[in-house]
Amino acid sequence: MPETPRIAVVGAGAAGTLTAAQLLRRAAALQAELQVLLIDPGVTGRGVAYASTAAHHLLNVPAGRMSAYHDAPDHFVRWLTRRAPGVHAGADHVPRALYGEYLADVLDAAASGPGPGRLHRVHERAVGLRRTDHGVTLDLGSDEPVPADAAVLALGNFPPGSAWVPPALHRSSRYLPAPWAPGALECLPDHGDVLLVGTGLTMVDVALTLSRAGRAVRAISRHGLLPQPHAESPLPVAPPPSFDSGADIRQIRRSLLSHVSACRRTYGDWRVGIDGLRPVTAELWQHLSPAAQAHFLHHDQALWNSHRHRIPPTVARALQDEIAAGRIQVGPGEIADAAATQDSVLVRLRDGRTLSVGAVVNCTGPQADVRHVDDPLVAGLLATGLAAPDPTGLGFHTTPNGRLLPADGTASDVLWTLGSLRRGALFESTAIPEIRAQAHALAADLLGSKKAGR
Ligand SMILES: Cc1cc2nc3c(=O)[nH]c(=O)nc-3n(C[C@H](O)[C@H](O)[C@H](O)COP(=O)(O)OP(=O)(O)OC[C@H]3O[C@@H](n4cnc5c(N)ncnc54)[C@H](O)[C@@H]3O)c2cc1C
Repeated sequence: MPETPRIAVVGAGAAGTLTAAQLLRRAAALQAELQVLLIDPGVTGRGVAYASTAAHHLLNVPAGRMSAYHDAPDHFVRWLTRRAPGVHAGADHVPRALYGEYLADVLDAAASGPGPGRLHRVHERAVGLRRTDHGVTLDLGSDEPVPADAAVLALGNFPPGSAWVPPALHRSSRYLPAPWAPGALECLPDHGDVLLVGTGLTMVDVALTLSRAGRAVRAISRHGLLPQPHAESPLPVAPPPSFDSGADIRQIRRSLLSHVSACRRTYGDWRVGIDGLRPVTAELWQHLSPAAQAHFLHHDQALWNSHRHRIPPTVARALQDEIAAGRIQVGPGEIADAAATQDSVLVRLRDGRTLSVGAVVNCTGPQADVRHVDDPLVAGLLATGLAAPDPTGLGFHTTPNGRLLPADGTASDVLWTLGSLRRGALFESTAIPEIRAQAHALAADLLGSKKAGR
């Protein structure tokens, strides 16, 4: 074990990059020696969300809310101004590729500062993790195992789940299981319509990429709900409502709906009510019983997501134009069965309709349930009991500050996580405003902890 404390951050998407930057900044503030190993075969800061180079793939959150640091809210907007003076403002939804570039710069700045912390970038996949007397050892895809005092699992967005995919479709080369994989959409057959399964944010990206004259892009989901657009101009901030501590899910739902209606009357926009819930969302979620959480996930989540996770107005207009032209069609529907023919896939929906399409794309969004993730690191952590699935099925079971809570119920002193793997505890845990706050708190907890501060 090295003398200098060493923390391994697995995953260099937004969550891992921000964690590494926060650790280095905190080490500088404490004048503490620290080695940060940032492990990911991919490009720093990109991850799934910011790897796209398509100019029409915009951030779903306005630039003014995407700062890497919650205590410097205009940090990203100032970076944009330096990079392209006079082009972007805080209310703009800028290309996601720019944000990936920004995150890499944020980490470069933290790593080249005067502090004693050092960053080592390891371009490898972690395929296993073992507990040792001194901390952990990480097994890498094709390199020597590396020891560390502690590890942060910033594993992010897993490929979409496929439990609903009929076997004949699964085997077909006309089925695309993960639309974000680099170059995946370019490999789709040129001829025939395309069926997208899922009608959320991923579908919007994919549909606008694939839509063209002579091809119908059909999108279906159980409910057929589309993401709502953001407002054209910045909205006021409303205080969250207060809830009766004994309220059950029906009472909470009623209070939420009347809060949103009241905000629409007062401010002229329902979005003010939804956005005002941000500070109390985790508390409300934790207040629900496990049965009520399951009920919410089954019955309310789709409606919540379509209002909470919105698309930029320009994207909404582009989508509506394509829908009006008949090139994109969105509605309810569930696949019951599929059969491959020579040059198409014949899909039968539960309501009896059949569709003949050239390809089917899984746009159902990241797999949230770690028990169904096909990944050796995750499978190993669950098998050895170092991690346990959250009872809701969303990510790992964690403490409120992001330490893993393994099957024996004792909070880990060597393993932390953040981002979507904490959805079970926090529910909303996937966007930058949540992730940057978690990275900040996690660095404080980690460097304050006995193990890492040794
Ligand atoms: C298409 C899309 C658009 C989005 N747009 C926005 C937006 O505009 N604004 C917003 O706030 N949020 C947005 N989000 C939410 C987004 O998930 C977060 O903003 C953020 O990017 C999540 O980062 P992450 O690092 O947790 O996950 P990811 O981006 O998924 O990164 C995880 C990283 O971990 C690596 N990794 C995984 N397993 C291993 C392993 N075993 N070993 C080594 N490395 C590993 C992967 O290679 C990857 O680089 C979007 C999400 C998606 C999918």
